[in-house]
Amino acid sequence: MRDKLHININLNIRGMGPSATLAINEMSNRMIKEGREVFKLGLGQSPFPVPEPVVEALRQNAHQKEYLPVKGLPELQEAIANFNLRKHNLRCTPEDVLIGPGSKELIFLLQLVYYGDLIIPTPSWVSYSPQARIVGRNVNWIPTKADNNWRLSPDMLEMICRTDPTRPRIAILNYPANPTGYTYPLERLERLAHVARRYGVILVSDEIYGLIHHNGKHVSVANYYPEGTIVSSGMSKWCGAGGWRLGCFTFPAKLRWLLDAIASVASETYTATSSPIQYAAITAFEENSEIENYLLHSRRILKTIAKVLVDKLRNMEIDIQLPQGAFYLFPDFNPYRGKLEKYGIYTSGELCKRILEKTGVAMLPGSDFGRPPEELTTRISYVDFDGANALETSGKIPVEKELNSTFMKENCPKLVKAFDLLGDWLAAL
Ligand code: PMP
Ligand code: GLU
Repeated sequence: MRDKLHININLNIRGMGPSATLAINEMSNRMIKEGREVFKLGLGQSPFPVPEPVVEALRQNAHQKEYLPVKGLPELQEAIANFNLRKHNLRCTPEDVLIGPGSKELIFLLQLVYYGDLIIPTPSWVSYSPQARIVGRNVNWIPTKADNNWRLSPDMLEMICRTDPTRPRIAILNYPANPTGYTYPLERLERLAHVARRYGVILVSDEIYGLIHHNGKHVSVANYYPEGTIVSSGMSKWCGAGGWRLGCFTFPAKLRWLLDAIASVASETYTATSSPIQYAAITAFEENSEIENYLLHSRRILKTIAKVLVDKLRNMEIDIQLPQGAFYLFPDFNPYRGKLEKYGIYTSGELCKRILEKTGVAMLPGSDFGRPPEELTTRISYVDFDGANALETSGKIPVEKELNSTFMKENCPKLVKAFDLLGDWLAAL
């Protein structure tokens, strides 16, 4: 007789494993526990500690125990509205801001609430498409090219929209981008905004890495399409607080109905975001010279590492442009294809698996980001270093001086070793 408790999973979710970013982290930790030396370039987690004034604010608010309003703590909504204006020239009211337990959850709820296709470029962050799948939405992956820094082209967006001009759609634009670190020139943002406006596409501008643009020059597409852009951000990347789980959406006034609809679902599911975290977040979003200094040094360090590692990849005959933000590199190992095939490596998945086995360097395959499996791209998160130590060292070096490879050797020895091992492995093929 059939077991009464037979497995009966929602068809959309059948066969789905854990998210690639979290799976690689857990696998790396398991290997470390077993005594292997692993270089954790898989999960994209900020290497820097949460700035001290924010940690102190959390200490001071540990007693906050009440459920907060579904949309967020009003003082925090206000702090974020002011922050938006100060940092991104984005005018909004506190009521336009929705706080959630991570921007990931908010992006998911938006996809649940808004009935439309999802448009994303390949490569894109690992979770957008699985979220669409969970709620049963169509995904339109738009191909991009390495020689165009993997950027979404306005013409391609137009081409998709023209096939059915009134179809409801959400397009997600993430810049500086995960997995590439590249961002968009203003003229390109403006053109994308025009297309989105012409077809009534809702743009989600995922700016979670905005404040770690390496030159501090991030500009939001909301400047060009204010009425249709939802700006997504949070504390996970620039404030080193991924595990605190606090994200935010800023809506245009015209989309208040969408904010309200998401808040209804939030009220029936997670209720509200953690109170102590929201109280502490006020300090993170308010003007604070210590946090500014922290940001300045975070960017300087990430920019230096990117430069040194790009040089190392180029020395390995891998053609790659310098990223402009975040902490990712997206190299293509295609120059080694012939040699790799001799070892039975035909896909980015096999490539990452073999590199992890042979060198202990953990990265993610391009296929997790929507690239064709046979393309030999990988994502490297260059975060396996002691961020607190690096900040302290950078703080002692005059800002007008450039940090260099000596800084790298002394402060990021694991990154240096990981790249040496990778280079040796490739050279021995
Ligand atoms: N967008 C991108 C591009 C990301 O890399 C991440 C990963 N942290 C998120 C959104 C979600 O961030 P969080 O939920 O921590 O706010
Ligand atoms: N966004 C991070 C990454 O791409 C990790 C966190 C997550 O995926 O939720 O690696």
